[in-house]
Amino acid sequence: MANIIDGKAIAAKIRGEIAVEVNRLEAKGIKPGLAVVLVGEDPASKVYVSMKEKACQDVGIFSDEHKLPATTSEKELLDLIDRLNKDERIHGILVQLPLPKHIDTEKVLDAISPFKDVDGFHPYNVGRLVVGKPVFQPCTPYGVMVMLKEAGVELAGKEVVVVGRSNIVGKPVAFMCLQQNATVTLCHSRTKNLAEKVGMADVVIAAVGQPEMIKGAWIKPGAVVIDVGVNRVGEKKLVGDVEYAAASERASAITPVPGGVGPMTITMLLYNTVESAKRGA
Ligand code: NDP
Repeated sequence: MANIIDGKAIAAKIRGEIAVEVNRLEAKGIKPGLAVVLVGEDPASKVYVSMKEKACQDVGIFSDEHKLPATTSEKELLDLIDRLNKDERIHGILVQLPLPKHIDTEKVLDAISPFKDVDGFHPYNVGRLVVGKPVFQPCTPYGVMVMLKEAGVELAGKEVVVVGRSNIVGKPVAFMCLQQNATVTLCHSRTKNLAEKVGMADVVIAAVGQPEMIKGAWIKPGAVVIDVGVNRVGEKKLVGDVEYAAASERASAITPVPGGVGPMTITMLLYNTVESAKRGA
């Protein structure tokens, strides 16, 4: 049976360390500040934003909330971002996605100062990540890397197979593993013989968004499995992208869903905000 890599416990430990760091900064007269911008009434986005606000409060980060109506124009949003870029109390800016259709998401994300881009989505930060000199690392992939480290998984020389090539998870996590000297295979919907590729992996990172599509039988015995997927099945049940029960029989370590990668994402957002405050953004 695989060891469970407990995202909740790792996240709690790191949030404790962040709270200590926030206290230390406050003693020097610096209060880390995160601006969270929500446009419209998307129910899931509202839940995420309130989770981020609460997480900030729990560790002592100043949470500057901007809840704007769905009718907000692109110009009004860009003006707000301009003000936040110049506001010295703010060290991180997060615009909750998706934005209403009349707003150009790329234009908005590009308007955030790369030095306050705690989500790590700005092309400047994406480029820095690719050349191995990140300023901010995107939160979910960063969380995956921290979990691997905490679980004692050494990546150098290992075969890592990432399934999913999105800009927010698959691609950045592949570059982060490459930076740690893994040999990385990045798979997607057009990949042939996926089962065979997954079967080669010492570490499988799944970020597909399809319930249990990676079968337990594909996993090489002793491999480490990180499941980023969060899929709602029926009314209440959440499952990952990996067939958890069967994969647990073969893997040496595995992340559960829920309670795996999920709690790490907001934790790394807090971490990036504090790092930004330390740099004096
Ligand atoms: P996207 O939908 O943006 O990307 C999915 C990727 O999976 C694409 O690259 C797609 O390939 C690939 N894919 C789809 N079907 C297959 C298939 N049959 N075989 C191989 N590859 C396939 O998803 P995200 O990256 O945004 O999210 C992935 C999952 O992670 C979701 O479940 C999401 O909810 C979860 N997530 C969890 C977070 C957390 O905090 N825990 C944060 C972010 C995401 P192609 O490019 O060819 O279309």
